Amino acid sequence: MFIDRQELDALVAYQNKENPVVSVYLNVTPPRNYNTELNSLIHTTRQSLAGEFNANPDDSADELRKKAIEVAQENERQHEQALINEMLEKSGPEGMAVLGTDPVIKALSMGQVHTLVIDKNFKKHGYICTNDHMLSTHEQTCPLCGAQMAKTGDLGDEMVEEALCQHSEIEHVFAEHADFRNYGVGALLRFTLSS
Ligand SMILES: [Zn+2]
Repeated sequence: MFIDRQELDALVAYQNKENPVVSVYLNVTPPRNYNTELNSLIHTTRQSLAGEFNANPDDSADELRKKAIEVAQENERQHEQALINEMLEKSGPEGMAVLGTDPVIKALSMGQVHTLVIDKNFKKHGYICTNDHMLSTHEQTCPLCGAQMAKTGDLGDEMVEEALCQHSEIEHVFAEHADFRNYGVGALLRFTLSS
């Protein structure tokens, strides 16, 4: 979910001063649809109601904007928490989610990732194979093709890129969530592999 700041400005500018209830809408970019006819990724944006708040008729535009952003951020925080709860639950015996860098990399290499969930502060060094985009936190030789892996300063960025190639959904976590912080990254899976 993306908060469009321009949208919030527009909302504040056009709000009806006689109606003290302000509705906050967010632009939501739904999962990418792969359009086979156009042979490209298409984005369709729709709007979703994030919440409402009571405004005073003499609130300044700045105050309204601040309140609107608070409503939007609270909505975002709740959305993130629901996603994190789903991952924690599904990473149990069901095995339909994984948490932590190595398990997510493994799931990516198997094409299992439905939704990649990554903390905005995720920062890790790692290795990448330039032949096949294989990723690793520690391997310096590609387990797939045997080539020397290159160092990368931003493993998170490479994981997002790989997930995009697989048409996975990407969710960035912006708020502080104590139960996710230690993992930094996780994924909901499309399918499991029995071992
Ligand atoms: Zn390789």
